[in-house]
Amino acid sequence: MNYQVDEKGYYGRFGGAYIPEILHKCVEDLQNNYLGVLESDDFKREFHRLLSDYAGRPSPLYYAQRMSERYGCRLYLKREDLNHTGAHKINNTIGQILVAKRLGKTRVIAETGAGQHGVATATVCALMDMPCVVYMGKTDVERQQPNVKKMQMLGATVVPVTSGNMTLKDATNEAIRDWCCHPADTFYIIGSTVGPHPYPDMVARLQSVISEEIKWQIAEKEGRDYPDYLMACVGGGSNAAGTIYHYLDDERVKIVLSEAGGEGVLSGRSAATIQLGREGIIHGSRTLVMQNEDGQIEEPYSISAGLDYPGIGPIHANLATTKRATVLAVNDDEALDAAYELTRLEGIIPALESAHALGALKKMSFKPDDVVVLTVSGRGDKDMEAYLKNISL
Ligand SMILES: *Cc1c(COP(=O)(O)O)cnc(C)c1O
Repeated sequence: MNYQVDEKGYYGRFGGAYIPEILHKCVEDLQNNYLGVLESDDFKREFHRLLSDYAGRPSPLYYAQRMSERYGCRLYLKREDLNHTGAHKINNTIGQILVAKRLGKTRVIAETGAGQHGVATATVCALMDMPCVVYMGKTDVERQQPNVKKMQMLGATVVPVTSGNMTLKDATNEAIRDWCCHPADTFYIIGSTVGPHPYPDMVARLQSVISEEIKWQIAEKEGRDYPDYLMACVGGGSNAAGTIYHYLDDERVKIVLSEAGGEGVLSGRSAATIQLGREGIIHGSRTLVMQNEDGQIEEPYSISAGLDYPGIGPIHANLATTKRATVLAVNDDEALDAAYELTRLEGIIPALESAHALGALKKMSFKPDDVVVLTVSGRGDKDMEAYLKNISL
């Protein structure tokens, strides 16, 4: 079984590039050039220098003693929360801006929901002195003011989008519209393993630094270079793709992914795309999509803004369909409990997204010798309001 992208841009039935005619040339250019760039010595040198000196990599692999005792296994946390800008997203934006420069692009656009990807993009645009426009639903602009202010301070233009429900999917449509108007000079930095081919593969490769590090870190600590379980949360799928990348074909390693159950998978307020989605096209690729009978995209819901997406990357649609990965839905209340538990047992306040990965621990049964690596995708600073509102201290 091969879980990597095929030459046409598919993972099994999922993926491809469903884009307007006007973008064909620039997407084809990217398809033809991204591997050459990513594999060039010059790119690798600059990417790894920035990952280490700017983003703070390698991120630690931390043996969580008290959590291990609680769950009866050997639990390690991959600490992406310690990266510059507070999550794994910086790995991807550093990589994509270096690709953009090498393809001669002079302007960057991005979409953002909660603002985390917008901040990571505005950060690298400041670093590289590139003009940056970030599309964000007006509803999100209003509820994510600190991130809007950060993007502006970093020099980005934030455009509030007023179509549709004024959230992420509408911001994405607007970014694609901008791209159609400026295909020659503009690079679209997509924030997850979503979008038309080659984005899912490009983003997975950029995030694969996570599993590259896990390999040598776990070898140092456990004397073998693979764990029994890898666990991560899935919104679009980028931190999960990075966590599992170098283990996809290693069947000794079980993969457990958490999606956002919201108020319950069948409650009508959920973002559990793998359970609720049907095949369709979103954001330029064929994947599982939450949609109604008429194929209209349904508004997802999760307490966690980063998991509140009606689609899922084609990589994960394929891993779930082929049963390479087990996908568990973790509800809002379970994620809140898990965040609180990690905070009290280990002194780490995780992002709400990462708390969904932690929430899956309770649904597992481990053997005492099982080595489990769970990615803490981001830190909880941005989620303090939700924590304070929902957890009685
Ligand atoms: C954006 C985000 C996610 C979800 O995105 P993926 O592409 O699925 O990784 C998860 N965790 C954090 C902290 C995020 O900011």
